[in-house]
Amino acid sequence: MRIAIIKNSNAQSKLAAGLLTQKLTKNGFTLDTHNPDVVITIGGDGTLLGAFHRYAQQLDRVRFIGVHTGHLGFYTDWRDYEIDDLVQALLKDSGQSVSYPLLDILADYEDGTSSHYLALNEATLKRLSGTMRTDVYIRDNFFESFRGDGLCVSTPTGSTAYSKSNGGAVIHPRLDAMQVTEIASINNRVFRTLAAPLILAPDEWVVLRPEPFQDYLMSIDQFSITPQLVTAIRFRIADERIHFARYRHMHFWDRVEDAFIGAKQ
Ligand code: NAP
Ligand code: MN
Repeated sequence: MRIAIIKNSNAQSKLAAGLLTQKLTKNGFTLDTHNPDVVITIGGDGTLLGAFHRYAQQLDRVRFIGVHTGHLGFYTDWRDYEIDDLVQALLKDSGQSVSYPLLDILADYEDGTSSHYLALNEATLKRLSGTMRTDVYIRDNFFESFRGDGLCVSTPTGSTAYSKSNGGAVIHPRLDAMQVTEIASINNRVFRTLAAPLILAPDEWVVLRPEPFQDYLMSIDQFSITPQLVTAIRFRIADERIHFARYRHMHFWDRVEDAFIGAKQ
C-alpha cells in the first residue's frame, strides 16, 4: 500500500506526521505522494479539504483518512494520539471505504471560455462591492431573481460548514443532495426570493445568470477566485465521489452533537 501524508503547518501536526512516517516505514508501507492508494491528512477538516483538491484528479484511485490534531472533525476520524491504532487498522486493511457526493461547478465566461471545478464542502458566488443580482434557474426553468450578498451551494458533508452559518439544514451524507442557501438576501415589497434553504434531488441542477458586473468572488471550499465576466454558473452533483478508508464507524449525528452541542448534562 502506497501512502501519502499531508499535514498542516502546526507543530503538533508535524510531530504526529513524523511519528506516523516512522511507524509506517517500520511496518513495510511505502510513502508515495505522487501515486498514493491512501492519503492521510494530519491537521483539521481544512487540511483534508486541501488534500482533496491536491488529489482531485485521482479520486477514483485514492482513499482518504483524516487525523485531527484538535477536536474531532467532520472529515477526520482519528486523533493524533491514536497513531498506533491507525497503523494497526491499516495493516488489517481490506479495502473498506465509504463515499460521499461532491459538487460539480461549471462557470461560463463572456469570452466563450469556461472553467470546471469540484467542491467537497461548497461553492459560493458573492459580489465584492454592492448587491449581487442574479437570476436563479432550476433545471433550466426560471425560479427567482436574487438580490443580496451571495448564494452558497453545498454538498451534504459541507452542510455542517458555511451552509449551516447561512441557516441551511444539516444533511446526512448518505443522501445524494445539493443545498442552496442565501447569504443575506434582500426581501421587501420589490425584491422577493424564497428566503429559505433549498434541497435539490440528485438529477437536478441550478444555474445562476448574474448581472454582468466585474467584481464577483467565487469560492470553492477554501479557495477564492475572482472570475472574469461570468455569464452562467451551473451547479450539479458530480459524477465523481470522494472515498474514505473507514476502519471504524462513528454515527453522523454523534459527530454533529459532538461538534455543535457538546457534553450533555
Ligand atoms: P477555516 O476558516 O479554518 O474554516 C472554518 C471552520 O470550518 C473550521 O473550524 C473548520 O474546521 C470548519 N470546517 C471545514 N469544513 C467543515 C465541514 N465540512 N463541517 C463542519 N466544519 C467544517 O478554513 P478551512 O479550514 O480552510 O475551511 C474552509 C471552509 O470554511 C469552507 O469550505 C467553508 O465551509 C468554511 N467557511 C465558513 C464560513 C462561515 O461559516 N461563515 C465562511 C467562510 C468559510 P477545522 O478547524 O477542523 O479546519
Ligand atoms: Mn481550518
